[in-house]
Amino acid sequence: MKKLLLLLLFVPLVISCSEEVDENVSSKKDSQLMPVAFNQVHLEDDFWKTRLKTQGKTLVPFALDKTIPAVKNLEKAAKFLEGDTTDLPYPHQYLSSDLYKVMEGAALILMENPNPELEKRIDGIVDIIARAQQEDGYLYVAHTTGVSKNHDAWGGSGMGDKPYSFVLHSHELYNMGHMYEAAVAYYQATGKDEWLKVAEKNAQHINRVFFEGDPNYNNGTPVNQAPGHEEIELALIKLYRVTGNELYLNMSKKFLDIRGKTYNPEGSGLLSPIYSQQHKPVAEQEKAVGHAVRAVYLYSGMADVSLLTGTGEYDGALNNIWHNIVDTKMHITGGLGAVHGIEGFGPEYVLPNKEAYNETCAAVGNVFFNYRMFLLTKDAQFMDVAEISLLNNSLAGVNIEGNKFFYVNPLEADGNNPFNHGKTGRSPWFGTACCPSNIARLIPQVSGMMYSYTENEIYATFYASNSTNIPLKEGIVSITQKSGYPFDEKINFTLTPEKKQKFTLKLRIPTWARNQFVPGKLYSYIGNISEEWQVKVNGEKVSVSLDKGFAIINRTWQPGDEVELMLPMPVRFNKSIDLVEANESRVAITRGPLVYCAEEVDNSGVVQRFFLDDINQSRVNTQIISEGVLKNVTSISLESKSNGTSGIKKEKLKLIPYYAWNNRGDESMIVWFPTKSDMIQFSDVNGLKGGRYKNVKASSTSKYGNLGAISDGRRPMNSNDTTIPVWTSTKKDNKHWVEIGIDSDKPIRSINIYWYDNNKSIKVPEKWSIEYLKDNTWKKLKIYVTDSYFIQKNQYNLVHPAEKLKCKALRINIIPNDGMAIGILDVDIQYEDIEM
Ligand SMILES: [Zn+2]
Repeated sequence: MKKLLLLLLFVPLVISCSEEVDENVSSKKDSQLMPVAFNQVHLEDDFWKTRLKTQGKTLVPFALDKTIPAVKNLEKAAKFLEGDTTDLPYPHQYLSSDLYKVMEGAALILMENPNPELEKRIDGIVDIIARAQQEDGYLYVAHTTGVSKNHDAWGGSGMGDKPYSFVLHSHELYNMGHMYEAAVAYYQATGKDEWLKVAEKNAQHINRVFFEGDPNYNNGTPVNQAPGHEEIELALIKLYRVTGNELYLNMSKKFLDIRGKTYNPEGSGLLSPIYSQQHKPVAEQEKAVGHAVRAVYLYSGMADVSLLTGTGEYDGALNNIWHNIVDTKMHITGGLGAVHGIEGFGPEYVLPNKEAYNETCAAVGNVFFNYRMFLLTKDAQFMDVAEISLLNNSLAGVNIEGNKFFYVNPLEADGNNPFNHGKTGRSPWFGTACCPSNIARLIPQVSGMMYSYTENEIYATFYASNSTNIPLKEGIVSITQKSGYPFDEKINFTLTPEKKQKFTLKLRIPTWARNQFVPGKLYSYIGNISEEWQVKVNGEKVSVSLDKGFAIINRTWQPGDEVELMLPMPVRFNKSIDLVEANESRVAITRGPLVYCAEEVDNSGVVQRFFLDDINQSRVNTQIISEGVLKNVTSISLESKSNGTSGIKKEKLKLIPYYAWNNRGDESMIVWFPTKSDMIQFSDVNGLKGGRYKNVKASSTSKYGNLGAISDGRRPMNSNDTTIPVWTSTKKDNKHWVEIGIDSDKPIRSINIYWYDNNKSIKVPEKWSIEYLKDNTWKKLKIYVTDSYFIQKNQYNLVHPAEKLKCKALRINIIPNDGMAIGILDVDIQYEDIEM
């Protein structure tokens, strides 16, 4: 009974037009693609099922523990509403959103694998959330309790001093969007509707305040402004789909339609109109711009509304934006948002490798966006992009064990790259934990992207061993799929309709199995390979036509019919178009849907020494790894050359899938290999650059400390690294500082500090901050909205200036923990190569 209920819940509602339908939106009637819900597709494979198990056992409980501060903050808001004002929460814009996303991930796991203990824990948190909601539906800790007034306006991007007074940066609607998504998932998983009611109450409150006018907000005038961080648009669609209440579809459309019309921020950086896609009405937008995560969430919402209303008014914009991404702004891994400064889209063709930003969330959003574009258009090219983004950049966001994460996903690491909130390794968690929590909710959704259907067509879009039932008009069809995807070439289906039945089976033939690795103009295969994909039905090769990227098999099916799809996976060499400077005279290696990389651990030394000047398919081998953390992964080996300290020589090069890198230590890695020996600048590879700064001064330096540590460029192995110089200060007043003279005309991108901590007398500080010298005065640095002054051990703690910053000197002000000395192992200042 419960199963049936869940199945029904998951079918997107197609509601017919009626008199009651709201003014400007009506739902589309005709035959849309229906996704087969993720909990109706039973995985029986090694690739995804293993990850789901890891997620249930490790990632979700671990992530829930990490989001306890958000629960505590909500609890304090609840107590405040109940009259206890003794313990106020600390002001934060989006802390609760990470909790909601982890809870969504937990709910999705629960649906497939009931777990009473986990369910009880979630119930407890839902209770606290409900108590933190105001009577009228408003839910945002900092304004409810008034602590927003104490909020340090990070990078000039505060939260305003009252509800909805600064929706450009407050994340009030962003938090709620994630809450709706989680509440919907939890309702679907458990049938419990307490949280869904909280979500609906909030949505109705937002509708009143933003579109009707509520006397308690904004002087009764409708706020009528789009949020700075998109999310609520697509979340309202989920709320609509599960409740059938057209109000939410209408609201989503209104939020889309007022964007770029009712309010335009003024300024640059975080306050620029393009940063949050407010530069134009959405239907007129042509290019992917600004903060990448915000952008893809917006485009996802547009595709949703376009599908459900059938008005087609965003279709032109969506098409242009999508082409702008795949033709000019996407890494071969499906990563988006190449530049650091704004965590977003840079200029066209600027796709750096070592310095790529590529936030994990943006890749996850790229999957969501393209999946929705597929539902809208029934065109496989979108699933091709979704697949590349999923299997390469998104999966790289988490380690195989499921407890360490990348925020930033570079395509090269050479030990001189401090960007990943650490050297190059994944981190256990982040102050801004959007990425781990997005992974937590993405992986359980993958099985829901494998099949969709209309009344008489079945679309198979992602491949993995699984089984499901698909309710076509003339009867249910059971499907079993067997495959070792993404490593194996063969995919076998057994179809068992209830009775003899005519329908069309559509199998996605990815672009990687045809003429190029991923759709778009950026990347192409080098050379032709004659092996072609093919389809067999009941053992007989059949000729099938290709339509919108799908092989069409239209016949009368009998129970037990078998289909074999063969997608040959030769190792392929790829090049990019010349306009991408970073990849000039370089090649990347792919196999099937996977991008491959070389790691130091397999290649006895720094991998930047290799070059491929003679590409020859016949000298390539593949092998299945038989043990260790990468067990069952297909590796590639090929003959190559290296240019190292002993000159040019032949050497074997071993490659593993990009998603699997950094599971065996933080060492060098490369995706785009040079094709010429003189492209290798070996001195850069191990370079220990001395004396990077001038006029380094400190408030004091202890007897055993060395001020030279600040600028010697030596990278610590950990916070207790005693093999390299360390600056320490023991003076026990509260005015420790280090001043660094800057000698660059380029704007500063980030400042990275590695704290020393010997676990005894010298500890990471209590807090720190940065000032900069301009016009002979010291000014407080405004840092980027998602940054804070972390004090993590064993990694670089980085901050980005919120606005373009060129200055003569920086001063790091440090407040030690009580009675403790402090120390710094390294300060690394990175500059912008591209001025935005
Ligand atoms: Zn993120």
